[in-house]
Amino acid sequence: MKRMLSLTLSAMCMASLAMGASKGEDPATPPKEILALLHDHASLTPTKVFDNLYCIGTKSVVAWALKTSEGIVLIDSMWNDEDAKLIEKGLRLYGLSPKDIKLIIITHGHGDHYGGANYLAKKYGAKVLMSQKDTEFMLSYNVGPNAPEYPKPKIDQYLKDREKITLGDTQIISVETPGHTVGGISLIFPVKYQGKNYEAMLWGGTGIPNDKNLQKAYKASLDKFEKYAKEYNVSVELTAHLFQDNGYSRLKSVYNESFEGTHPFIVGKKKIEEFFATYKKMVDEKLKN
Ligand SMILES: [Zn+2]
Repeated sequence: MKRMLSLTLSAMCMASLAMGASKGEDPATPPKEILALLHDHASLTPTKVFDNLYCIGTKSVVAWALKTSEGIVLIDSMWNDEDAKLIEKGLRLYGLSPKDIKLIIITHGHGDHYGGANYLAKKYGAKVLMSQKDTEFMLSYNVGPNAPEYPKPKIDQYLKDREKITLGDTQIISVETPGHTVGGISLIFPVKYQGKNYEAMLWGGTGIPNDKNLQKAYKASLDKFEKYAKEYNVSVELTAHLFQDNGYSRLKSVYNESFEGTHPFIVGKKKIEEFFATYKKMVDEKLKN
């Protein structure tokens, strides 16, 4: 099977538009098919993407479960209790216990990322981490993706910029990358594949808002996070929204082990550079309008 990793501008724009719309307070007009995917709650097959990383979710949004020597770090938590139950089920499929979820890191204060955390934190005592700015945003905003049907978790710890979060043998770097929201974060963490170590990045908030100040912040965040990606030799790119970058088919090919050559989520440094270049181009376009 041929690698399907083209970070095409059009696909990225579509995803970004969709996420812009999901934000609610600053909507752009997404193409209907992308908006439909954002609200498509059909389950994806839970997949062990790396030796220590599992992807569980729906066509709308996924959570990533990072296994460490002292429990699980969950990155984002999908929309609601139902989704949280899907996460429980997905973990059990791989012989993991949801009781071992110790930390839930929320990339930003939108319901599709924080909505499942309340259920999991209450049931298993996991600690929920989010930036202070996005916690305030989450609590003060109550429509669209932040409507009451998406439960708001109690935040146990505010994530600071450039914070190193350690659980057992695993360290995650959290970098404040405002733009999509006022206090969104992006992450860098280690993954293993066939015993080899790689550094992965997860860009927390994809959609570019219409607000000019946030757009400027978005651009600065891209520059800032790219430096970290270089410093940590990041070669893996992950997202919570698999409708972008052929995420569904990449996930499927990992599940079926049907890819040839390189693992489809190990994109390499060149594609990481392209990722940032593509987003910068999109922000520049938006800044001009
Ligand atoms: Zn969002």
